Amino acid sequence: MVEISKGFDCQHFIGGTYIPIQSEKSFENINPATEEVIGRVAEGSQEEVDLAVEAAKNAFNNGWKNSKVSERAAILRKIGDLLLEKKEQLAMLETMDTGKPLWLSTNVDIPRAAGSFHFYANFISTMGTDAYPMEVGAVNIVVRRPLGVVGMINPWNLPLLLLCAKLAPCLAMGNTVVLKPARWTPMTATLLGQICKEAGLPDGVINVVNGNGRVVGEALSAHPDIRAIAFTGETSTGKSIMKAGAESLKRFSFELGGKNPNIIFEDCDLDTVIDTTLRSSFINQGAVCLCGSRIYVQRSIYEEFMQRFVARTKEQIVGDPMQPNTNIGALISKQHYERVLEYIELARAEGGTIETGGKRAEGQGKGYYVEPTIISGLDKSCRVTNEEIFGPVVTVQPFDTEEEVIQYANDTHYGLSASVWTKDSSRGLRVAHQIEAGTTWVNTWFLRDPRTPYGGEKQSGIGRQGGMFSLDFYSEVSTICVKY
Ligand code: NAD
Repeated sequence: MVEISKGFDCQHFIGGTYIPIQSEKSFENINPATEEVIGRVAEGSQEEVDLAVEAAKNAFNNGWKNSKVSERAAILRKIGDLLLEKKEQLAMLETMDTGKPLWLSTNVDIPRAAGSFHFYANFISTMGTDAYPMEVGAVNIVVRRPLGVVGMINPWNLPLLLLCAKLAPCLAMGNTVVLKPARWTPMTATLLGQICKEAGLPDGVINVVNGNGRVVGEALSAHPDIRAIAFTGETSTGKSIMKAGAESLKRFSFELGGKNPNIIFEDCDLDTVIDTTLRSSFINQGAVCLCGSRIYVQRSIYEEFMQRFVARTKEQIVGDPMQPNTNIGALISKQHYERVLEYIELARAEGGTIETGGKRAEGQGKGYYVEPTIISGLDKSCRVTNEEIFGPVVTVQPFDTEEEVIQYANDTHYGLSASVWTKDSSRGLRVAHQIEAGTTWVNTWFLRDPRTPYGGEKQSGIGRQGGMFSLDFYSEVSTICVKY
């Protein structure tokens, strides 16, 4: 692996080879925690996308599409093993790129990325298929074939984790891939090319083109030889991708934005709720699509909740992501940092009360640090309670009845996830059933079984990932009807 102490230059990886960077076609990669330049990133164009798609097409037709399940499973397992073997190094790179705490990259991002490969290695090794016998003396057998070349467009918040959640099932089904990392977080995806090669993945099966979304992302979305786009990012970007892919009638898997409700009833276990709400509000600087950024608390416990939640939030340590006791690191970029601070100003203008936080974190030299911020006094008509901020900022609002809070929870064009906290399991299930979200947790948060469907309702996404749901997306499912 490359020397990482100061970062490295992120090249394109096409057809099993890194392509030397031309300085006039590259941009700086900045560590958001220090504002230091940690390398240059190749700026891809239509030309590199065309080359990568050609390499992926050749790899598909020259063997990968007909590879044996056992061969693919062994390679996937090996990729997972290598990711774990190189965990410390990859975690360091992820933290340098994102500004997130190193303990988070080490304990969550990299192990979960590896876990996707191990999971699908096992899954395809044991899965069967459906058959539908007919009384007339025929049997219908359901078979799956790979699609061909798939384009993947990824966000910056969980770079390797989200990429591998798509890549593992995609490769498992025998597809080839051209992927584009977010421009802010190219390092682990770039290295993944080398890791896959080391694991025995044939050249051209995975290709990485770095660069700008409007150029590389759009070229992938519009490319006639790409059969499907798996995208995670903002809802508005999803709409652009869909338009660009319409001409070639692609299939889309979209994991989009959220503004997730965290509903806390008076009969909850408040100690657990406070602990989990701290995480679900501020982990990864609040930039996990599943973060619960709208908190609704039943009025009888509102004061107690607020007092305890504010006190615990004030104890959160914001700063150097390399320090083991840091809770909240840096935001991804200057632009995003300014955007989050603008939302806090907007909250003030909309009549909100800043219960804690509300500004740049004190004591930091360089870097994009914002205090964890709790806002009260805003209702559902405000922009701050409706728009995704994707930073360490939450709103808290009291409610009286179950019906009322279900209405609040669903009054949004998003529908990614929700949490419900109550010791009354009937109520937990009843409320969860009525919430329009792809995932609703009752008395927990962020607990994920990789076999289950994952995705968003309404404008939070299209399609479902996880277990068989991912394999369905990454394959042509067809029927062979045999008369006997
Ligand atoms: P983004 O939409 O700005 O960028 C995502 C990717 O799309 C990047 O690689 C970017 O370069 C590319 N892109 C930008 N414009 C493009 C275009 N016109 N055509 C093609 N590609 C283009 O999102 P982001 O800021 O990187 O990530 C944050 C967003 O991702 C938030 O909205 C968050 O909720 C969402 N997200 C959702 C999930 C989920 O599972 N639903 C998970 C993580 C993040």
